[in-house]
Amino acid sequence: MGDSRITKVVIVGGGTAGWMAAAALSRTMDNLSIRLVESDEIGTVGVGEATIPAIRLFNALIGIDENEFIRETGGTFKLGIQFHDWGRIGDVYMHAFGQIGRSLGMLQFPQYWLRGRNEGIAGRLGDYSLNETAGRQNRFARLPQIPNTSLDGIAYAFHFDAALYAAYLRKIAEQAGAERTEGKIFGVRRNGETGHVEAVVLEDGTAIDGEIFIDCSGFRALLIEEALGTGFEDWTHWLPCDRAIAVPSENAGPARPYTQAIAHKAGWQWRIPLQHRTGNGHVFCSDFISEDEATATLLANVEGRPLAEPRMLRFRTGMRRKAWNGNVVALGLASGFLEPLESTSIHLIQNGIAKLLAHFPDRDFDAANIDAYNRRVRFDYERIRDFVILHYHANQRTDSPFWIRCREMGIPETLAHKIELFRSQGQIVREGDELFIEIGWFQVLTGQNIMPDGYHPMADQLTHDELASFFADIETIVARTASHLPGHDEFIAQHCAAGVPA
Ligand SMILES: Cc1cc2nc3c(=O)[nH]c(=O)nc-3n(C[C@H](O)[C@H](O)[C@H](O)COP(=O)(O)OP(=O)(O)OC[C@H]3O[C@@H](n4cnc5c(N)ncnc54)[C@H](O)[C@@H]3O)c2cc1C
Repeated sequence: MGDSRITKVVIVGGGTAGWMAAAALSRTMDNLSIRLVESDEIGTVGVGEATIPAIRLFNALIGIDENEFIRETGGTFKLGIQFHDWGRIGDVYMHAFGQIGRSLGMLQFPQYWLRGRNEGIAGRLGDYSLNETAGRQNRFARLPQIPNTSLDGIAYAFHFDAALYAAYLRKIAEQAGAERTEGKIFGVRRNGETGHVEAVVLEDGTAIDGEIFIDCSGFRALLIEEALGTGFEDWTHWLPCDRAIAVPSENAGPARPYTQAIAHKAGWQWRIPLQHRTGNGHVFCSDFISEDEATATLLANVEGRPLAEPRMLRFRTGMRRKAWNGNVVALGLASGFLEPLESTSIHLIQNGIAKLLAHFPDRDFDAANIDAYNRRVRFDYERIRDFVILHYHANQRTDSPFWIRCREMGIPETLAHKIELFRSQGQIVREGDELFIEIGWFQVLTGQNIMPDGYHPMADQLTHDELASFFADIETIVARTASHLPGHDEFIAQHCAAGVPA
C-alpha cells in the first residue's frame, strides 16, 4: 500500500463541515497536504449552534481545551432539550442527556418507573434526572458522578456561535498545517476514464488538484451532486418542514443550560442561549403556513430585542444516495439534511469524519471500503431520521391540520416497529451503535404520551414499599446534588467567559 498512499486532500467549503474536517485531518494524519477552498462571497449557512454530548469526543480528538473553546465561541452548556406543546398544547418535557435513576439487578430504571407510575408512587421522570433537575434551576457544573453514590452525574454538550466556531476551528487547522484558498469554484475537472475528480477550477482559472476531495460546499453539493450527479433520497413525506426563519436576539435573562423546542401550529421554534445573544429560529412547513406568517410567529415569540433582520433558509430533508462516490466524500449539508430538532447535523459531520478516518482509502479507492462507509453512514442517518420523525408523529394535537397530518402519515417500518414494541412491552431495543440510547427514546415516547400497556415482570422483585423508597432515595439525592451546583451563568463567569483571557 506504501506507494499508493493518498497525500493530497482538497476540502471544498469552509463552513462548520469544512473546518471540522480540516481540523480533524490535520491533527490526526501526518504527511497529508490539506487545502481548503472557500468563498467569502458565498458565505456559510450561518446556523447550527446546538450540539449533543458526543461532540466532546471530537474536541478530544483534535485536542481542544474546553474552556478556551467555550470562551472563543461565546458558548454555553447544554443539558438537554426542553420540548413545549409537542404531545398536546401545554405539555412540557425534557429530553435530558445522560442516564436517569439507576438500574437495579438486570433491569433498567424505566421499567421500575413504569410500575411505580401504575401504583402512583413514581414522580415525574425528570425528578430522577440530575440533568433535568439542574437544568430547571439553571445550574451547571462538570460532575461525571454523584459523589458517594452509583448515580451518574452531569452529561453535557454545548451551544455556540456557528461563525465563531468555524473561525476557531480554522485557527486550529491552520496551526496544524492546513492551507486555505479564498476563491469561487467555477468548474470541476474529471478523469475521462475513472470519472474521478482531478481538480476544482476557480473563477480566475487556477486549478487546485487533489487525490481525494471532501465536499463541504453546503446545500449546493458542488462535487457530489453538481459534478457527479449522485442523487438524493427525499424524506419530505416523513419530515415535511422545508423552511426555517432565523433571528438572533438579545439575552433576556440568565442563559438556560438547555435548548428549547417550542411547537407552533405548522412547525416549531428553537431558542439557543449563547453568552452574547440568543439564537432563535422557526422551522416550518410551507404547505401549511406562509413565510410572512411564520416570520411573525417567530418575532412574537422571541424573548429579547431582535439583533438583525430575520433570515429565511430553504431546505429539503433527506440524504445523498451515497455520501462517498468515487474520490469524493460529502460531509455536512452536502451529504444530507435532517432538521435541527435533536441537534444532530454537527454530530453527523463528526460521525462522517470519524468514519472517513477509519476507512481512509489509498489511491485505489477500493469499492468494498467505500461501500462499507456508505452503509454505515446510511444507518446513522436513518436511525436519527426515525427519532426525529417520532416527535412529529407521536402527537395528540387537534388544533392544526399540520399536526393532524403528521399523526396520520405513514412512518418508516423501523420506527413503526419501535413504537409497537414499546406500546406492548415497554421495551426499547437499541440497534447496533445507533446514536440515541434507550433512555432518550423513553423520554420522548413518554413525554409525548405514548405509554406502554405493562412493564417488565422483573420490576416486581421489589415490594411496593421497597419500590417507593427506591424512588424517594434517588429523588432526594438528585435534588440535593442539583441544589449544591453553581448557577450556569456563575459557572461560565468563573471558568470560560467570552472575552476574558485564560
Ligand atoms: C435552519 C437550520 C438550523 C440548524 N441548526 C443546527 C443545530 O442547532 N445543530 C446542528 O448540529 N446543526 C444544525 N444545522 C446544520 C448545520 O448548520 C450544518 O450542518 C453546518 O453548519 C454545516 O454546514 P456546511 O459546512 O455543510 O455548509 P455551509 O455552512 O453552507 O458551508 C458551505 C461552504 O461551501 C462554500 N462554497 C459553496 N459553494 C462554493 C463555491 N462555488 N466556491 C467556493 N466555495 C463554495 C461556502 O463558501 C461555505 O464556506 C442547522 C441547519 C439549518 C438549515
